[in-house]
Amino acid sequence: MSAPVTGRCLCGAVRFAFDHAPLAARACWCRDCQYLSSGNASVNVIFRRVGLTLHGEPLAFESTADSGTRMRRRFCDRCGTPLFSEAADAPDLMVVRAGALDDPGLARPGGTIWTRSAPAWGLVHPDLPRCEGQAPPLPPCP
Ligand SMILES: [Zn+2]
Ligand SMILES: [Zn+2]
Repeated sequence: MSAPVTGRCLCGAVRFAFDHAPLAARACWCRDCQYLSSGNASVNVIFRRVGLTLHGEPLAFESTADSGTRMRRRFCDRCGTPLFSEAADAPDLMVVRAGALDDPGLARPGGTIWTRSAPAWGLVHPDLPRCEGQAPPLPPCP
């Protein structure tokens, strides 16, 4: 088993650890992610839910994503840091916002999704696979 991957929110009220390395990471330009990441793509890191240890109680916001999937997004109620998202159709996976990792360097994206929602100035990595819309969480992009 690999070393734990740890993270927290900005204020430290919520802390978490996964007992395994990320399965995948990718950048997402969907409109919802732009709200979460101050206008840029969000970088989302995918783990197995069973490996999660969570300290603190993030609040949850549920909505339907552009993909039509029911999503539950969790964030710190003190500092507002976006932490996790969980898709109703992938209950065994846990998505972590890369900025909340103690070492965001672990979250190198393997692809970019929802590029059609990016603004004209949006920088999409030229060398990575990209999808105009949604792609299955694993693998990062077809
Ligand atoms: Zn916090
Ligand atoms: Zn997104």
